[in-house]
Amino acid sequence: MYPPRFDYLAPASLEEVVTALGEREGAKVMAGGQSLIPVLKLRIASVDTIVDINRVPGLDVIEEQDGELRIGALVRHVDAERSPLLHGKHGLLGTTARLVADPLVRNRGTVCGSLAHADPQGDWASALIAARGSLVVHGGSGERTISVDELSVGPFMTTLAADEVITEVRVPDPGPRSGGTYLKLERKVGDYATAAVAVQVTLDNGHVGQVGIGLTGVGATNLRATAAEDALRGNEPTDDAVREAAALAAEAAEPQSDNRGTTEYKRNVVRVFCERGLRTAISAAQAGQE
Ligand SMILES: Cc1cc2nc3c(=O)[nH]c(=O)nc-3n(C[C@H](O)[C@H](O)[C@H](O)COP(=O)(O)OP(=O)(O)OC[C@H]3O[C@@H](n4cnc5c(N)ncnc54)[C@H](O)[C@@H]3O)c2cc1C
Repeated sequence: MYPPRFDYLAPASLEEVVTALGEREGAKVMAGGQSLIPVLKLRIASVDTIVDINRVPGLDVIEEQDGELRIGALVRHVDAERSPLLHGKHGLLGTTARLVADPLVRNRGTVCGSLAHADPQGDWASALIAARGSLVVHGGSGERTISVDELSVGPFMTTLAADEVITEVRVPDPGPRSGGTYLKLERKVGDYATAAVAVQVTLDNGHVGQVGIGLTGVGATNLRATAAEDALRGNEPTDDAVREAAALAAEAAEPQSDNRGTTEYKRNVVRVFCERGLRTAISAAQAGQE
């Protein structure tokens, strides 16, 4: 099917992007087009104007600056997959990148586009919940920074204003004694998650200092397993503590039965993946991986 008619703009600066979004009602940003174009072609959505950001310079950068990892709005999944910065202490992010969709989609789709799309089955939001990421957003009222937790308010719904564009994701340095991973159950390679769990752990004197646990595909948005995190933080990462946290993460999940599995099945996947993910992350942190 062909998409409904739309105007197409490709501004060459961020200022022009924000102006176009502010002036044109029904305008939408396009980054990789891997979600926007399919929904237009399927006529699930329509837009009056596409504002293509691919000509805006400086948005394709992955770099460490002032103790933070910065991932620009034109960083593709494949760039994240291949970046040497997304290994070791940021290994959770490199692992996630490799599990998003298939190579064709990864070549064009972007990390920030995935966050803005707010699909509760999207992988990046859980990884960034676990990594305590934040988003830099530019709009008509200027620049603001929001935590990833504040972005999504429901399936495909965000707190972004119509004239706002995400320009980068920032991830704090988790420190040397840290580890993380992403475990995703998919029916076949390239599929969306039946359920998935992102885990990031930092140890402090043999105790859990910071911990983040994000859940994919088991709620109306990607979820933070807050009770599980609270149960671990400040305590020794014993087997019992890990098992208890995994059970709490499963309780926090709100899955729906569908063709990918029943509620009980998905909840159990969360428990098992959380336990496995925590053990992997804790072992990496104990080894003092950089
Ligand atoms: C076959 C297939 C399989 C897939 N499998 C998976 C999967 O397993 N896991 C997964 O996580 N994703 C999957 N996806 C989605 C894919 O990851 C998309 O690339 C991603 O969701 C959107 O990124 P994009 O850059 O292509 O965004 P676009 O398609 O360009 O835009 C998507 C939405 O985000 C908005 N947007 C984009 N960039 C910005 C920005 N910088 N600021 C504000 N708004 C913005 C657009 O206006 C639009 O509403 C799949 C997609 C396909 C087609």
